[in-house]
Amino acid sequence: MSTLFTDFGLAEPILRAVTELGYKEPTPIQAQAIPLVLQGRDVMGAAQTGTGKTAGFALPILQRLMQHANASASPARHPVRSLIIAPTRELADQIYVNVAAYARYTSLKSAVVFGGIDIKPQIAAMRAGCEVLIATPGRLLDHVEQRTVNLSQVEIFVMDEADRMLDMGFLPDIQRIINLLPAKRQNLMFSATFSNEIRRLAESFLTDPISVEVARRNAAAENVDQKVYRVDSTDAKRAAVAKLVRDNALSQVLVFTNTKIGAGRLARQLEKDGLNANAIHGDKSQQERLATLEAFKKGEIAVLVATDVAARGLDIVELPAVINYDLPYSPEDYIHRIGRTGRAGASGMALSLMIGEDERLLAEIEKLIKRKLPVERLGVEAPRDRDRPSGERDEPREHRRSVERFGRNERGAHSDRGEPREPRRGPRPAASAVAAGLSNDPFFYKPYESTADEAAAAEEAAPSGGTAVAARAKRPSRPLAALLGGKKA
Ligand code: AMP
Repeated sequence: MSTLFTDFGLAEPILRAVTELGYKEPTPIQAQAIPLVLQGRDVMGAAQTGTGKTAGFALPILQRLMQHANASASPARHPVRSLIIAPTRELADQIYVNVAAYARYTSLKSAVVFGGIDIKPQIAAMRAGCEVLIATPGRLLDHVEQRTVNLSQVEIFVMDEADRMLDMGFLPDIQRIINLLPAKRQNLMFSATFSNEIRRLAESFLTDPISVEVARRNAAAENVDQKVYRVDSTDAKRAAVAKLVRDNALSQVLVFTNTKIGAGRLARQLEKDGLNANAIHGDKSQQERLATLEAFKKGEIAVLVATDVAARGLDIVELPAVINYDLPYSPEDYIHRIGRTGRAGASGMALSLMIGEDERLLAEIEKLIKRKLPVERLGVEAPRDRDRPSGERDEPREHRRSVERFGRNERGAHSDRGEPREPRRGPRPAASAVAAGLSNDPFFYKPYESTADEAAAAEEAAPSGGTAVAARAKRPSRPLAALLGGKKA
C-alpha cells in the first residue's frame, strides 16, 4: 500500500497547505525522506529537482519547527532555526516559494536572500525575523558581515544541489557558513550526482547520515528519449535547432549552450528565424531572469536558451524536450540537463547536437550513463550570417571580458557573490576545451577564484599558468583538506 501524506503525522495546517496544492500522494523521495527528517536524522539525498525533494525536506522541517511557532510580532521570537542554502538565485527563490506555500497556515515565517538585487529589502526581512531562511552562500555571507542575520540558533541545516555548489566554487563559502552554525544540529544534503568530492564534503559535516536515493546514481532519466544528431559545422547548429523544434512540433523546449554569449546569440538568431525564443543566463539581471522564466512557464516563450548555471534547478514541470546545442563539457551536466524533461512519469525528449570534434564529449557522457546513444546525421545548411564571424574567435574574447569584469566585482564588493562566474566547467581535461576550440583561454580551465584568501589557497593548489589537468589533479586534495577541516558536529 502506498504512503499517504496523512501517514507522516504532520500538523493540520501543514497538511491543509499540501492538500490545497493538489499533492495527492508523496513522491518516492518524500516517502523516504520525510520520516527520517522527522526523526531528526541526518540525510544524504540523491535526487534531482523535479522529484519533489523540496517538500521532502521542507515539510518535515516545518513540522519540527512547529513547536516554536508563535504569532508574536517581535523579531526576537522568530530567530532563524532552519537554514537552507542553494547554488543559484532561481533555485533559492523556488525553494522559498514552496516553503512559504507549505507554511502558509502556520505562524512560521520564511525569507529568501540572494545576490544580484538590492540588499536593503532583504535586511528589512531579516530584521523582522524568520524561522526558515533560504539563501545563496555569497549573499548570506554578506548579511553575516553586515550583522543582519544571526545563525546561532539554527537547528536544521540543508544544503541543496550540493554538487552544483562545488562546481560553482562555493566550497569556501560553505565552510564559512558551517562554522557559523551551532555544532549540535540536524543536517540534510541533496545532490543529483555523487563524486568523491561530494562524498568528502558529506563526511565532513553529516553525522551518521542515512542515504536516500530515488533514481539510480548517475543514471539518466529512463523515460527520456535520447538522440544525438551529427551536423557538419558549428554554423549549421543554429539551423539544426530550428529544424528540430519545427520537425518535432516542440511548443516548449529548453536549449542548452555552454556559454553565456552563445546563449544570447542563439536566442537572437532563433528569433530572426521566426521562433519565439529568449535566453536566460548569468549576465541578465535577476528581474529579467525571473520574468523570462515566468514567460516560458506560461508558454509565452517557446524556446528558452540557457546555460547550465542559469537552468540549474529550474522548476519547469512537464517540459517535453531539451536540446543540447552544445554537448556539455562535464558529463554530469548532461544528466542535469536531461533531468529537466521526462519527470514524474511523463516521457520526454533529449536531443543533442554534435560536430566532429565533440566525439570525446559524447564518449564521456556515454561512459557516465553507461549506455550508447543513437547518433544520426542531420542534414542542414550552415546559414550565411554576417553576425557571426567565427565561434572560435568571439567566444573567448567575450569571456576574457567576463574574467575582467568578474575579477573586479567578486574580489571587491561581495554583492555579486550570489552566483559566481558561470563557466567554471570544473576544470575539465584540456581536451574538452580544445575540442570546443577554446584551448587558448585559461578562463575555461582555471579553478574558481572568489575572495583574496580563497584565491591564495587556489593558487597554491594550482600554480598560475597550470593547465586544466594540473589544476584539476591538485584541487581536490588540498582545498578540501584545508577548508573542510574534519568533522564538525
Ligand atoms: P521539486 O523537485 O521539489 O522542485 O518539485 C517539483 C515539482 O513537483 C514542484 O512543482 C512541486 O510543487 C511538485 N510536487 C512536489 N511534491 C509533489 C507531490 N507529492 N505531488 C504532486 N506534485 C508535487
